[in-house]
Amino acid sequence: MEKSQIWVFMEQRGGVLHEVGLELLGKARELAEVSGSTVAAILLGAEVAPLADRIINHGADLVLVAEHPALETYRLLPYTDVLTRACRERHPSVLLFGATRMGVELAPRLAARLKTGLSAHCIDLQWDANGNLLQMVPGWGGGVVATIRCPDHRPQMATVMPGVMQKCESSRRSGRVITLTVGEDLDVSGPKILSIDREEPKTRALETAEVVIAGGWGIGGPEGWKLLEELAALLGGAVGATRPPVDEGWASEEQMIGQSGKTIRPRLYIGVGISGMSHHVVGMDGSELVVAINSDPKASLFEVADICIVGDFREIMPPLLEEIRRRLGGKQPH
Ligand SMILES: Cc1cc2nc3c(=O)[nH]c(=O)nc-3n(C[C@H](O)[C@H](O)[C@H](O)COP(=O)(O)OP(=O)(O)OC[C@H]3O[C@@H](n4cnc5c(N)ncnc54)[C@H](O)[C@@H]3O)c2cc1C
Repeated sequence: MEKSQIWVFMEQRGGVLHEVGLELLGKARELAEVSGSTVAAILLGAEVAPLADRIINHGADLVLVAEHPALETYRLLPYTDVLTRACRERHPSVLLFGATRMGVELAPRLAARLKTGLSAHCIDLQWDANGNLLQMVPGWGGGVVATIRCPDHRPQMATVMPGVMQKCESSRRSGRVITLTVGEDLDVSGPKILSIDREEPKTRALETAEVVIAGGWGIGGPEGWKLLEELAALLGGAVGATRPPVDEGWASEEQMIGQSGKTIRPRLYIGVGISGMSHHVVGMDGSELVVAINSDPKASLFEVADICIVGDFREIMPPLLEEIRRRLGGKQPH
């Protein structure tokens, strides 16, 4: 009997793999060790086959590669088309996507075509006793975790935020690469990409930063925000945000931490003017050391903080910056 397959969609842009795919391979490997399934990665693009070695080293037994000029740059309809055909022909039991902009657009469209279910923003995945995938999703602002099952339809589909799962150690593994046939009748209707302008990130990537200085509504505006940027620059860290500063335009959407933003696990997280609503906390409570600065001694962020500083950040931060500058003596971490 053929083994059941756990598929991971490998997001790539310009031939660069998104880390979330590698993280999902780590989880898929763990699930496969329990169920005896095969881990297959599905990779779409143009001339992307050279990425297969890295994918295999991160846990895939099999890499399904679909190459076509129309797949070079991500577009919803051709990508959905190829994935639908691959699933109908090969019947994966599980199909995982990163909850990235690409993943959250593609996964629901595919689930609808395949007439199966989809759990969004899972924080864990396990098997039940009958071999169904248990998909854990935070509900009610992270206050409860709902466990979702999809017993009657396949594949069992889930999206997972970047940074939630752990990559498995890269080692010299062996695996197979299968080239999927992409029909010339590919659906290339819909918007066409005329040109791509890449914006250079203004701050260091949150997901990989060892230090994150996060600001909330309490910062009050761009003036206060500069203090966070100064502190991040001194400590070689990145600036993150809760939702209100993003809504106000003080920070970009890329900087949002939490249920609808990024999940981070830095060595040091400093939250300034943040109340600590669970929507935000689910994205940062894996941080090693948490420092909270808030004028309200009852702020919930203090409940998850290792160091609590009660007071107005406008009074606390300038001397803090001064002291750090003095201790660094002109040297700055990279
Ligand atoms: C479906 C859904 C998804 C969401 N997803 C996210 C998400 O991913 N990420 C996210 O962050 N939010 C998310 N939210 C919003 C979330 O519920 C909260 O509204 C948000 O996290 C609150 O942000 P905040 O702590 O910055 O603001 P507030 O709750 O307004 O807190 C501001 C804090 O600043 C303190 N403060 C004020 N002045 C000062 C000062 N001078 N010095 C020091 N402290 C001061 C106050 O005491 C207060 O505690 C989501 C909401 C919904 C409904």
